[in-house]
Amino acid sequence: MTKRLVFLGPPGAGKGTIANRIAAKFNLPHISTGDLLRKEVAAETEVGKKAKGEMLRGELVNDELVTAVLRKRLSQGDAAKGFILDGYPRTMKQVELLENALKEIGEKLDVVLHIDASQKTIIKRLSNRRQCKRCGKLYNLVSLPPKNKGRCDVCQGELFQRKDDEQEAIKKRLQAYGQRTKPIISYYKEKGLLREVDCNGEIEENLLNAEEALKGI
Ligand code: AMP
Repeated sequence: MTKRLVFLGPPGAGKGTIANRIAAKFNLPHISTGDLLRKEVAAETEVGKKAKGEMLRGELVNDELVTAVLRKRLSQGDAAKGFILDGYPRTMKQVELLENALKEIGEKLDVVLHIDASQKTIIKRLSNRRQCKRCGKLYNLVSLPPKNKGRCDVCQGELFQRKDDEQEAIKKRLQAYGQRTKPIISYYKEKGLLREVDCNGEIEENLLNAEEALKGI
């Protein structure tokens, strides 16, 4: 069965971690627009140059720009069997653009999972998040620390803090979420697509709750 899922929630709620696990379970591609955009920035493409400023400040990138990046990814063969979208849509305009893109191929979304956590949990998670410069593996200084300080367990690469995980940018990202993304939740609820999961707990507990919320899909 084809599954087209959207994972929606504030930054730091655990969308990426949960999407990774569920994607592996259902053998679906995990498509994160944040990751796609970071690749564009790293490769210094035209798209990357346009998106960089907003991303560093923790603001949303232009709807058409991020949708073009997403469309390109969705046109790859593996997305025909379904996908998990992580971090898209984030505005009502993107909801509309996604519906149009799916309509063109005669498809629609199956489920929207709302992954939620309190502001206190989010700030604690994001400000302690570190990533390996070389392989991208994520750590948390409190809940998932590396064995050697500042070094990746897997490849010994140097760990760094994402610019948008710094205090000021976290505030901006939460603001953008409240103003632009939250209204989407009621929209999908009215459409009968929404399922909800509380992710204030530890990783394993959150993953189990998310699997439970997706039962029967
Ligand atoms: P994320 O890794 O999902 O937190 O995304 C990192 C940053 O990429 C965000 O703070 C935005 O600047 C940008 N971004 C990712 N996805 C979107 C989206 N759907 N719409 C607008 N901006 C996005």
